[in-house]
Amino acid sequence: MSASTASAVPASGWSLRTVSVAVVVLAMAVAPLFLGKFGVSLMNDIGIGALVALGLVMLTGVGGATSFGQAAFVGIAAYATAWLSTSQGLSPWLGLVLALVLTGAAALTIGAITLRLGGHFLPLSTIAWGLSIALVFGNMASLGSHTGLSNIPAIHLGPWSLREPRAMYYLVWVVVGLAYLFCRNVLQSRTGRAMRGLRGGNILLASVGADPLRLKLTLFVLAAMLAGLAGWLYAHNNRFVSPAPFDVRASIEYLLMAVAGGVGHLLGAILGAAMVLVMKNTVQDVLPLLTTRGGQFEAVVFALLFIALLHYARGGLMGLVMKRWPIRRAPPRPVAAPPLARRPSPPRGTPLLSVQGAVKRFGGLVAVNDVSFEVKAGEIVGLIGPNGAGKSTMFNLLTGTLPMTAGRVEFLGQDVTHLPQVAIARLGLGRTFQHVKLRPHMSLLDNVALGAHARARAGVLRAGLRLDRVEEAQVFAEAWRQLDRIGLAERAHEQAGSLPLGTQRILEIARALAADPLLLVLDEPAAGLRRKEKQELGELLRRLREEGVTILIVEHDMDFVMKLVDRLVVMNFGSKLAEGLPAEVRSDPQVQTAYLGAPAAAQESAQEAKP
Ligand code: ADP
Ligand code: MG
Repeated sequence: MSASTASAVPASGWSLRTVSVAVVVLAMAVAPLFLGKFGVSLMNDIGIGALVALGLVMLTGVGGATSFGQAAFVGIAAYATAWLSTSQGLSPWLGLVLALVLTGAAALTIGAITLRLGGHFLPLSTIAWGLSIALVFGNMASLGSHTGLSNIPAIHLGPWSLREPRAMYYLVWVVVGLAYLFCRNVLQSRTGRAMRGLRGGNILLASVGADPLRLKLTLFVLAAMLAGLAGWLYAHNNRFVSPAPFDVRASIEYLLMAVAGGVGHLLGAILGAAMVLVMKNTVQDVLPLLTTRGGQFEAVVFALLFIALLHYARGGLMGLVMKRWPIRRAPPRPVAAPPLARRPSPPRGTPLLSVQGAVKRFGGLVAVNDVSFEVKAGEIVGLIGPNGAGKSTMFNLLTGTLPMTAGRVEFLGQDVTHLPQVAIARLGLGRTFQHVKLRPHMSLLDNVALGAHARARAGVLRAGLRLDRVEEAQVFAEAWRQLDRIGLAERAHEQAGSLPLGTQRILEIARALAADPLLLVLDEPAAGLRRKEKQELGELLRRLREEGVTILIVEHDMDFVMKLVDRLVVMNFGSKLAEGLPAEVRSDPQVQTAYLGAPAAAQESAQEAKP
């Protein structure tokens, strides 16, 4: 393994980082001593806004989903703790529990209904949700209708009363700090890796056994609970609540914080909250000097400033900061860790995959027409046929990527015909794609580690509290092992998108192998490889067969296929044309006709002729 390359981490980066963190923490700790009453209150508001924006960075920046309803979650939490601590006379700490339970449950319900619908349904439904919640607050007598609830008690922390803004300051910012660390830890975990993989489609994630819907729902609930935390602080900081601060306008302001700060970075939430609130205060101070209708112009000035920001700095403030001072996190090095548990492999020769009468129609086109075949444990089976024969579609059917029109698929003796892709992947069916599916902006190492998703268990809570380190080390050890096996360990920290297309295909194999598959389904893995690389690939696949991995492969290079496979299945125009040993298939007159008639054959022989 390329330990030398991997450990070539700039030693100075770490200490500089530590020093800057220490300076910031110290500055924050002494700030209230120098800030006036107004400054401290503003800092508290910034901290509270930053918590909501942090959730939005996770939801929007990482997960790619937008919510126009975060203020409603803040409101639910604020009203929950206000109601509990005033009319029920209970402790604000119980209010915190109620606030988090309610926001979490509300997000779970809304998310479960709308995330499934995909597209714009989530943003639209969050607007509806944001509008209605503020109306509900304003019309419930027990919540004080439009006047709201006042005389909310201060939070008590042991002997201390956090009545003064200066005291609240420390609570607010400790909570912001902890929330930031929690989110950062989550992003650097198994779940976070999958969350970072959400942008770019669901199929890749599902193929490694990560449920995209569940990941998005988790992000939505996490963002809502961060807003809930903010609402709880808000209620006990302001000591009264009324409906207006929780309406859709407030939600848009939170979204602006996240966007202005930069949704690509967690710190953007804090910078964005500071920028928006300082700007808002400045505009409120300056406008009355210029016009008597300041309130109306405030929104206009605000909007213009933001249009300018988005025009000149799409990545927000953090985008600008990162351009000047790119933060380089020390890349993980290979560490020794006990290997992840492996699946017991079925004895050689037992039927592993059985496809019976598979049919797939796309409208009037029958892409797969009543195809049946079997793959036994320990075999390498080739699926060949001219372009458009239905091979990739066949792969999509048996991996659950596409629903079948008719037919049946059994994997390990179990009927998987109607199982979702995620579930089939988790049974041990690994795959690569004809049109490469990687996360080009993630490192090679992260891309391969993504493959081991279903072999680890740590969820958001464990990751956020950093209790997942042993398992993470195991996942990375596995990723290093697979990268090493395909000869790419030296480039582990490069972005996957920087690899040539042919090499990206090989990286996909490493990702599939990280899942410890029993059956590996490869769609044209040798396309774009040079002769020597093809040889190496062939050797790798043969070695895998020795190790007990069963392989089903689509490949156009006849020379490559004939030398590699134990058996061949030939498809043409969606139907199975022939099946048998390579030599039998090669001499089959029907197969020869199909190939000679197809333009693909001419292309192949032309490709073959090239050195
Ligand atoms: P192969 O992999 O053997 O080259 P494919 O499985 O990709 O063939 O395609 C088989 C046929 O199905 C082709 O005619 C193709 O145009 C069609 N097809 C594939 N996917 C879709 C789809 N999602 N919608 C409509 N037609 C499709
Ligand atoms: Mg294909």
